[in-house]
Order: sequence, then structure tokens, then C-alpha cells
Amino acid sequence: MSELTWILDPATGELTVEGLSEAEASALAGDLLPPARPLNCARPLTTQPLPSRQETSGLTLRVAHLYHGSVVDGPGRRSVVQTQGCVHQCRGCALTETHSLAGGVALGIEAIVAALLDAQGEPRDGITVTGGEPFLQPVGLLALLQRLKAHDLHTVVYTGFTLEALACRLEPEVQAALKLIDVLIDGPFVARLSDGAGEWRGSRNQRVIHRPGALMEVMRSDRLQQK
Ligand code: SF4
Repeated sequence: MSELTWILDPATGELTVEGLSEAEASALAGDLLPPARPLNCARPLTTQPLPSRQETSGLTLRVAHLYHGSVVDGPGRRSVVQTQGCVHQCRGCALTETHSLAGGVALGIEAIVAALLDAQGEPRDGITVTGGEPFLQPVGLLALLQRLKAHDLHTVVYTGFTLEALACRLEPEVQAALKLIDVLIDGPFVARLSDGAGEWRGSRNQRVIHRPGALMEVMRSDRLQQK
């Protein structure tokens, strides 16, 4: 059996087990616990209804889903915004509904922040921005991160790009966003590397990078020295 991760949510008493199939978890639970339900990063059991009205002015992000109380999208218990639009085409992606650049709902940044912080008093260790591909919307992503940091919130961002690829992007918003991220989980999903990916990651090639802005600065200075 592969390594298992057990996460007990103190707010709900729910037990999340990583590394078991639904059938294996149900067999282990026997008659003592309710039947297991499958749960993946960025694939919650329930999501918050989104307003149907598209925001057409001001700073916006195109959003696929919003949800609370996730224990699998970064450290602790998190509220999550899942952005709409992705170009990576990872084979085996479980989130194909987030790929269309025209799907989801365009929401104002203030409305997203209000929805993320409105979880009926539930405890929260931070906010996760996942996709889709958040870095396809760097202006909106930066504005969202700035607002989250104004609330002193811990931020995790998932991206199908590597940090090296993002560090080469010319838009100033990309560089500024990286500096506001506490943890970046980077790289595409690679199905053949999914076994044993461990907490928060979909596949073993993805990296959990703390303070990616600082690492980006080191990479840039190394590049300059090599010229
Ligand atoms: S980056 Fe994420 S959403 Fe996009 S194709 Fe890959 S797994 Fe799917």
C-alpha cells in the first residue's frame, strides 16, 4: 500500500485520507464511519453558487468555482477561488470544464474577496487560487492577491506553468503577483506521475515553492551574472 496522509478537520470532524481509492477507504471505514466519498484537489464536494451577472467594468477575474473548508488545496483549512480558462491541456485533467476562456463568470475583485471571506464564521488558514490557469489573468490575479494581503491572509496559488517560465514573462503584473504569493504549486499535471504525489500536489513533478518571489529574484540575478 502507498503512503497515506490522514487529515482530520477539527471544524467538522471529517476525516480526509489521501492515498486510498474510494472502495479501499470504505472497506477500511467498515460500519464505524459513513461511506467514503471521492475528493480531489480543486474538485470539492460542494461549491458556492456564483452570481449569474457578469461584471463588465473595473478589475475582474473570470471564475469557475468558489468554495470553503478545503483541507486539500494547501496547508490547513482554506477558502478557494478556481479561475476559469486554461491552455495547458494536461492529459487526464479532471477539470476540463475550467478550460474554456469564455466560460465561468467574470466577477469584480471586491465581490470575490467578499465571497472568500464570507463563510459563516468558519475557521480559515488562508486562501488558495487555483485553476484553470490563474496566470492567464495576471492583472486580476495581482489585484486579488493585493486585496488578500491587505487582509493579512496566507496565499497559495496553483499554476500549470513552471516558476522558471513565469519568471521569463514580461508583464509586470506576473512578477508582482509572484512576490505576493506565500506558496506556489507549479507545473502541469502529469498523470503517469500521480501516484504518491503527496499532500496538495496532483503529480510528483509539481513543486511546492515557498516564497516564489524571492526565488525568482535569485534566478534573475543568476541569469544576469551569466550574461
Ligand atoms: S493546468 Fe490544471 S486545469 Fe489546466 S489542463 Fe492542467 S490539470 Fe487541467
